Amino acid sequence: MFALQFDQLDRQAELRANPSELRALANQDNSFILPVYHQKLLTGDKGLLWLKWHELHSQVNEIHDKHLIYLGKVTIDASPHHFYSYRLAQPEQFIQQFPGTELRGLRDLFPILDETESYLANVAIGIEHWHNTHQYCGYCGHTTYSKLAGFVRQCSNPNCAKEHFPRTDAAVICAITFQDKILLGRQASWPENRYSVIAGFVEPGESLEQAVAREADEEVGLEVTNIQYFGSQPWPFPQSLMTGFTADATHSNIRLKDQELEHADWFSRQQLIDLIANDELILPYRYSISRALVENWRQQ
Ligand SMILES: [Zn+2]
Repeated sequence: MFALQFDQLDRQAELRANPSELRALANQDNSFILPVYHQKLLTGDKGLLWLKWHELHSQVNEIHDKHLIYLGKVTIDASPHHFYSYRLAQPEQFIQQFPGTELRGLRDLFPILDETESYLANVAIGIEHWHNTHQYCGYCGHTTYSKLAGFVRQCSNPNCAKEHFPRTDAAVICAITFQDKILLGRQASWPENRYSVIAGFVEPGESLEQAVAREADEEVGLEVTNIQYFGSQPWPFPQSLMTGFTADATHSNIRLKDQELEHADWFSRQQLIDLIANDELILPYRYSISRALVENWRQQ
């Protein structure tokens, strides 16, 4: 299974309108707060730095509701644990206060985090990024402020007062096959020899299947049929929801029409084995849905 499929987080949205209850809950023994700064997490040699309320309080003087985000409840060993994140204005004092602490991105952390932590970190990072990029109202330009435990930002202009909700960008990713081969391509900016299946963002007014067909045409000049849903993965780099598909090409003539890819080709299972063994081809990241799509095809 690919990463970020954890389904044990009870987000308890009904609590979001009750800041005093959320503060009281955050003060309990089984409550933990994850400091976040610019999509990075404070990490020590034992993994993520989860703080108790008093530890966070001693560092920031005052804990502001506008920076506190309630992620939800996870039941661990039959007891409820409550998880929060906190948007830091400055990370430096934490790094000084907790020796060995550094700021690390989620991609970097996947190999050392367990399923629960990866998922909570993904939610925390996604929400934090949305706050950082939605400080101003897109309708009138006034500042916005956080409410409902970080899940809404409201415009401060009383004549506007629009509510803004966290954004997720829909993207499609598709394993296209032709007979016994899979299509893999690479962008010029990727690490050397890294190849993946094709992907792209969904445009307004488009269904997911239409986006798959358009991307296949734009990126590699292929017509595809039999577009089948595979699964989805939240991908907080910075705020995508990847929806995975498989599809069959009606012909094998690749044309790089939009130049998004610098190279694309068809690969058999044996070719992949040989190229990977010689370090001439590197598959997508182990925790990604793109890798899961390739592995799914390899095992068929
Ligand atoms: Zn406004």
